[in-house]
Amino acid sequence: MRPLSAAELLCAWEDGLSRGPVDRALVLLAAASPEAAPDSLAALPIGERDSRLLALRAWIFGATLASRATCPECGEQVEFSFDAASRFAPWRNEPPQTEIGISFAGYDLCLRPPNSIDMAALSLDSDAEARRSHLFARSLVSASKNGDPVGADRLPPEVVAAAAEALAKADPLADMRVDLGCPTCEYRWQAPFDIVPFFWSEIEAWACRILREVHVLARAYGWSERDILELSPARRQAYIELAGS
Ligand SMILES: [Zn+2]
Repeated sequence: MRPLSAAELLCAWEDGLSRGPVDRALVLLAAASPEAAPDSLAALPIGERDSRLLALRAWIFGATLASRATCPECGEQVEFSFDAASRFAPWRNEPPQTEIGISFAGYDLCLRPPNSIDMAALSLDSDAEARRSHLFARSLVSASKNGDPVGADRLPPEVVAAAAEALAKADPLADMRVDLGCPTCEYRWQAPFDIVPFFWSEIEAWACRILREVHVLARAYGWSERDILELSPARRQAYIELAGS
């Protein structure tokens, strides 16, 4: 994986414009990982995929992420920032576990962490519980009791819970959470953090800005889009100021 140039990032933004979050994540990773087969990126466990997106985001926009959340207790908007690399580094498994075996309450299960193909297969209109069980069924490679196969829908809830725990442990970055505290009511909680919409909204804001800069410089100097995108941000900014003077 490598950082993206301004021209490559703009192409990735254009490619992802009409797509959903799963495809956007894969478009960005594919642009930054020309050596990887697209199928292999789609098959990455979600936590591994997202940790790569965090690394890409740090290369492009810096290591510090700033966001906001609503306090669940009093409704206050809480702004927060954190360094993703140091926050999530201890969560990462090296290498990510792709096959997990557990034995619980007489059941033997073989599981694999969900990937982007599984996420894309989830129906958008199903409720959260239906999505969870659909995802679990896809993650279950096999299940048996005393050697007899058992379907995902026939497993007791405590076995499903143990399996979910094993899956979360195998791919902890699939559920990134940030410790937050409310300055108004002092409530403390863990807010979920999803790198895909966060990174994409930053890319959208960046694309709007860079297209405006291309527009100003192309009109002022007659340069091509490619030439303008090859300028460093500092030079681009300097020429924009000169063009306006
Ligand atoms: Zn509060």
